[in-house]
Amino acid sequence: MTDFHYVSDRLTGNTRNAPLVLVVDDQPSNIQTLYAIFQDRYEVCMAVNGADALAFCARRTPDLILLDVVMPGIGGYALCETLKHDPRSCDIPIIFVTGNSDPLDEVQGFDVGGADFITKPFHATVVRARVQTQLTLKRQSDLLRLMALVDGLTGVANRRQFDQVLGAEWSRCGRSGQPLSLLMIDVDHFKRFNDHYGHQEGDVCLRAVAGAIKAAMRRPHDLAARYGGEEFSCILPDTGREGAAVKAVEIEQAVRQLALPHLDAPQGIVTVSIGVASMLQQGAAETAASLVLTADTYLYRAKREGRGRVCSVLDLA
Ligand code: GH3
Ligand code: MG
Ligand code: MG
Repeated sequence: MTDFHYVSDRLTGNTRNAPLVLVVDDQPSNIQTLYAIFQDRYEVCMAVNGADALAFCARRTPDLILLDVVMPGIGGYALCETLKHDPRSCDIPIIFVTGNSDPLDEVQGFDVGGADFITKPFHATVVRARVQTQLTLKRQSDLLRLMALVDGLTGVANRRQFDQVLGAEWSRCGRSGQPLSLLMIDVDHFKRFNDHYGHQEGDVCLRAVAGAIKAAMRRPHDLAARYGGEEFSCILPDTGREGAAVKAVEIEQAVRQLALPHLDAPQGIVTVSIGVASMLQQGAAETAASLVLTADTYLYRAKREGRGRVCSVLDLA
């Protein structure tokens, strides 16, 4: 499975072998019972209330949540609804565990997005089987999503994921009032590279460049994507123009340091040109598409000015 961090963190939850199961219950004895059932095959973590569970999910992505319905503070149904409305946790299957066997209660559980319903007192074998079923379904859908969202050649996000994440981050940064930056990265003289070394070497080169770009994405919300052909793009949420320009320079130099020979290019090695765009949403006229357009404009300026360089609005000051 790819180690692409965005997908592994947000979709598959983890790169560990054992699935991560989060048990949320205000009664320590219930947690202990479930822990005893699952600790031998899964990594089991616990939260004693809804707030703790949300905090946990902000740090890590469980593969499954066993959720008590009645808890002080945020109740199980409300917590489920919150998790299902967050794109980062909406794919986690949630199994309600409750002492109440009223069918109307179950209906409400499914209404808020629960995957299954287990009533107490429960039988360990039944609980194991139900959890295993949900984990299998989760693994299969993760794999499908991975195939749908990751570029097969380079292992970074594909264009579909790029579009989805850009839309989501645009809205998120709009709500939080934070800037959003975008880098457009194009391999220089890549047609000549293919002509000189062949398309297979070209593919090897694209993989290496993608690796260098991905390695520069260190914040959890940063995303490196293949935009198309030999063009890559990075989405940098909560990052202003200075920070984005620094990141772009870092990537330009990282690719340079790969020192991939390109005898048909003026510098003798593979280089990239990078355009940087940054926006604080203030007017209705701004769209995520205009961010891409601006990054493109600076990318073409970088090309015109000699390639192997970064260009942003800061260069015009
Ligand atoms: P510039 O410095 O102006 O960007 O020139 P360029 O040659 O890089 O740009 P151009 O757009 O003319 O050529 C891009 C080349 O990228 C042409 C295409 O064959 C190659 N390419 C696109 N996708 C792939 C791929 O998946 N594998 C390989 N090997 N080559 C690809
Ligand atoms: Mg191009
Ligand atoms: Mg190019």
